[in-house]
Amino acid sequence: MPLKKSWVASANTPDCPFPLNNLPYGVFLATDDERHCGVAIGDQILDVTRMEEDSLIDLPEDYVFMTGVWNDFMDLGPQVWAGFRATLTAALAEGSDQQAALTPYLVPMAGAKMAMPIDVIEYTDFYAGRNHAFNVGSLFRGPENALPPNWLHIPIGYNGRASSVVVSGTDIRRPWGQLKGPNDDKPRFAPCARFDIELEMGAIVGVSSDGPITVQEADDNIFGYVLLNDWSARDIQAWEYQPLGPFQAKATATTISPWIVTKAALEPFRCDTPEREFELLDHLKDCGPMLYDIDLDITLAPEGKPATALSRTNYNQMYYSAGQQLAHHSTSGCPMNAGDLLGSGTISGPTKPERGSLLELSWGGKEPITLDTGETRTFIEDGDTLTLNGAARGDGYTIGFGDCVGKLLPALEDPYQR
Ligand code: MN
Repeated sequence: MPLKKSWVASANTPDCPFPLNNLPYGVFLATDDERHCGVAIGDQILDVTRMEEDSLIDLPEDYVFMTGVWNDFMDLGPQVWAGFRATLTAALAEGSDQQAALTPYLVPMAGAKMAMPIDVIEYTDFYAGRNHAFNVGSLFRGPENALPPNWLHIPIGYNGRASSVVVSGTDIRRPWGQLKGPNDDKPRFAPCARFDIELEMGAIVGVSSDGPITVQEADDNIFGYVLLNDWSARDIQAWEYQPLGPFQAKATATTISPWIVTKAALEPFRCDTPEREFELLDHLKDCGPMLYDIDLDITLAPEGKPATALSRTNYNQMYYSAGQQLAHHSTSGCPMNAGDLLGSGTISGPTKPERGSLLELSWGGKEPITLDTGETRTFIEDGDTLTLNGAARGDGYTIGFGDCVGKLLPALEDPYQR
């Protein structure tokens, strides 16, 4: 599918992340400091909250965008999602007769402060990238036991905290936690010394379900995708994770990109999951091409200094798709809600420059990474800014998500001081 041209001229260049083909959904702080729902087009945001106030939007319910999050819109269901997208696409297309009517609702994206696009209802993080699971398993347990015996049969995950999910641009505070290294005779309470990122995609559930759903139903229920950085305290994790998995190591924060790219926009980029070493049980089998070809990268910028590219990989490296993860999540009868967020698991490619975490890039801290500034890193240092980027590249256009950025602030002197 080629670039669809818009009368918003900035949307028509091949490297603009927000062409008419994309139309991602976000929330920004309007001049009245209230949260408005917006749609990105070129270098502008279309303020749909204000359009709704002025009766320029026709949806089956009123006041859908007054809440300043996209949850009420998701609740209207896939048919309404498709209709709304078709209406917007026509209205913003080159030659549309609505240019004069809509121009007053465009807000420049530059300088707009973004907020959380949805109220996250619940957050689950998976561990579904094979190279990452193998690398981390090798580091924590040795290469013989790297992949747990269940790994090639189910997408394993843990229930995270919706309360800890923040939008891109939010500063992250280095956490304290209980630590015990292999050579320590007893645990101690101290600031995390091995703070890390995880390069992931997040899938947003748009349709609630109650009881087991098929992979096809699960895929149909997904609203869209964001970039996701699952900040991880590796030293806290190494001590706490057995046998119930990560807990406080993952609870400091999870950053998502500001724009939700709809499943519809990603449709031309669908691709297959890899060859299966063991045939999946029927309830988890692929129902078509289930992944997406999305280039991903990580950069690190020390305080006041230019950024260094740390890693480049692709979402097509996943072993399990979001549809399979959501289907698996429902097998027990677990109700799933519109507004649930599913982290893919860290995405690492097969080679070193494709690794999606510092834990893997520095091989557990044993192989420091040299930055373009000449400094070295094993894990994140105070003042470092970490940025995830994602782009699906079409025929003369790019689908982007906006940066997924966070800066690490130093640990508090004493976290219990009030
Ligand atoms: Mn993770």
